[in-house]
Amino acid sequence: MAERVIKDDQPRVYFDCNKCPAFCCSIYERVTVTKRDINRLAKYFGVSYDEARERYTKDYDGERVLKRVRDVIFEETCEFLDQKTRGCTIYHGRPAVCRSYPGRSRCAYYDVLRFERKQQGDESVVPLIKITFREVEDVVVSDEDSSERIYEWDENGKRRPK
Ligand code: SF4
Ligand code: SF4
Repeated sequence: MAERVIKDDQPRVYFDCNKCPAFCCSIYERVTVTKRDINRLAKYFGVSYDEARERYTKDYDGERVLKRVRDVIFEETCEFLDQKTRGCTIYHGRPAVCRSYPGRSRCAYYDVLRFERKQQGDESVVPLIKITFREVEDVVVSDEDSSERIYEWDENGKRRPK
């Protein structure tokens, strides 16, 4: 099924970015930018493509991504996040990936925020989430009684050699 993208002018029924500390701008290690995104940034800031690429983006494992800074809530966040209002300071110049996120009618991080605030009975609490990705291998381990599927990875997050 094609991914459903919620456009800027469509209502967000199940989440409200204005009431969120911007998990999506903060907890991912990288926000990928394409050449088109860099062109958009260049136009937005009135600088050349090369200047925009150099000033606002960096290499991350062979990918071009937005630069990040230390954050007052999370460990780091996008350099374009207003750390007080938690809003994007380059809203009309932001990359495509930010425009389409989360690409569905619910935002999982907003759900966690609502869940924890209710659990803790405190509307000011923010669950500190950090997300990273590892390649894991699922293997089946067995004994005489049963077998089960487990995930295996080494301390560097790489799959164990067979
Ligand atoms: S994490 Fe979800 S609710 Fe929060 S700003 Fe991002 S898209 Fe909006
Ligand atoms: S460009 Fe804006 S929307 Fe995208 S990650 Fe940065 S602050 Fe968030």
